Amino acid sequence: MNGLMMDRPLLISGLLTHAESQHGEREIVSRRVEGDVHRTSYRELGQRARRLANALAALGIAHGERVATLAWNGYRHMELYYAASGSGAVLHTINPRLHPDQLAWIAHHAEDRVLFFDLSFLPLVEAIAPRLATLKTFVAMTDRAHMPDATTIPNLLCYEDLLAAHSPAFEWPEFDERAASSLCYTSGTTGHPKGVLYSHRSTLLHAYAAALPDALSYSGNDVILPVVPMFHVNAWGIPYIACMVGAKLVFPGPSLDGKSLHDLFEAEGVTVSAGVPTVWQGLLAHVEGHGLAFSTMRRTIIGGSACPPAMLQAFQERHGVQVVHAWGMTETSPLGSVCRLTPDHLALDAPQRLAIQSKQGRAVFGVEMKIVDAHGERLPHDGHAAGELMVRGPWIAAGYFHGEGAGPLVDGWFPTGDVSTIDAGGFMQITDRSKDVIKSGGEWIGSIDLENIAMAHPGVAMAACIAARHPKWDERPLLVVVKKPGHELTRDELLGFYEGRIARWWTPDDVVFVDSIPLGGTGKIQKNLLRDAWRDHLLAQA
Ligand code: ADP
Repeated sequence: MNGLMMDRPLLISGLLTHAESQHGEREIVSRRVEGDVHRTSYRELGQRARRLANALAALGIAHGERVATLAWNGYRHMELYYAASGSGAVLHTINPRLHPDQLAWIAHHAEDRVLFFDLSFLPLVEAIAPRLATLKTFVAMTDRAHMPDATTIPNLLCYEDLLAAHSPAFEWPEFDERAASSLCYTSGTTGHPKGVLYSHRSTLLHAYAAALPDALSYSGNDVILPVVPMFHVNAWGIPYIACMVGAKLVFPGPSLDGKSLHDLFEAEGVTVSAGVPTVWQGLLAHVEGHGLAFSTMRRTIIGGSACPPAMLQAFQERHGVQVVHAWGMTETSPLGSVCRLTPDHLALDAPQRLAIQSKQGRAVFGVEMKIVDAHGERLPHDGHAAGELMVRGPWIAAGYFHGEGAGPLVDGWFPTGDVSTIDAGGFMQITDRSKDVIKSGGEWIGSIDLENIAMAHPGVAMAACIAARHPKWDERPLLVVVKKPGHELTRDELLGFYEGRIARWWTPDDVVFVDSIPLGGTGKIQKNLLRDAWRDHLLAQA
């Protein structure tokens, strides 16, 4: 017997109509590529998204066809989020930091029909446009006054002209909530990128779960500034969640340096932000270097890579900003787990609480987690046994676009490629990505622990630990370090810093000091490049 409740579809357009009617006057503030700060509201967002939906229809975009963007975080990008998905098309957010060859490959693979881009990407689009056979229409996301005088792109359209030419009268269509809504490619450090195709249903369920108080806790009283780009897993769901809860939104546009971010935090009263650890490093360096403070910021969500405990301490103890450490991936929409202290932790002292907060936390409701050994057998949740993390749930990918990567699931679970432990309380801790694990004499050494220790040294700006080949142990940890400017730091001093902090045999064999560490398109350390450069360092020494 079925229940007798209405079977209304969970559609992305519903978020927008809710935002318009329930918190229409709430602001959306954007720093634009044109250089100024722009202000709009959810009411205007709704009107402009409907104009844009009419424009997409006039451009011949059919249900399910891909609408691509190459854009920073801003209100026009948000309009595209709703106009494309809301009208039944699929929003394909492309990461502009990828190599142009990869970018062209992705646009071709996705069969994008139209590309909307911020002016800063004009040279990039001009360079790849001749290779994009499926792309018939290019739109510059700007107004007439800022359109380029000359371009090699034929019939380049102007975003604001397009909107002005169409009516705000548009009925959002109703369709199956399982319909595709947006597409995001994983960065593909090995092999081709793979497309993760979200649905309306997965997006809305993810938004509900992520907004919960013990998850990321977004409220209508918040002012949210997503530093995480709208091309990195839908800015971790913030463009949807903000409409759901009615939070004021502040978009940083292209200016992601510490000063620009801090200025915007202060000017707009930002209460919560979200991004990868490398972004916060720049922000903290600016704030601490200039003796500044955060006067309104209460909380920051850090994920995408492990948050070093030293960063947790800096935010919480020196700046009164609570860190919420979260784990996820493109295939998990992205939220999988969140680290929140529970009442059981109240009696713990500060170092014990910090140790817990350094974990990636517990599964949010909707996501199930288990860890398995090399044979796929479940491992105990005892905080010690480490194995591959497997997840399942209604916002976890079941496959990739166009069948790329074959069927990824194992017995209905998605293998994450992350190695982790889970303790009796359900707290999961990533020790490594399986491809980054260091195998010393058959034993595994987790690189994240070793990096966290180095990051706690006051002279270290950034640290990465990689597997270097070793004549006796196959692999041994090698630490690659960028020093903080003005700090004297020697190899022996840094290696001495490990004493008493970790089992002696885990201590890295050597340290190499470099000027910079390569970061990928989403701000993560590219360990594959470091391995290419330093893999034989220990062999050479031996
Ligand atoms: P990619 O980095 O390949 O572009 P994703 O952005 O989907 O793809 O990254 C997902 C991966 O990032 C996870 O599998 C995990 O290895 C890593 N990751 C995400 N959040 C955390 C975290 N809080 N701590 C450690 N690793 C994390």
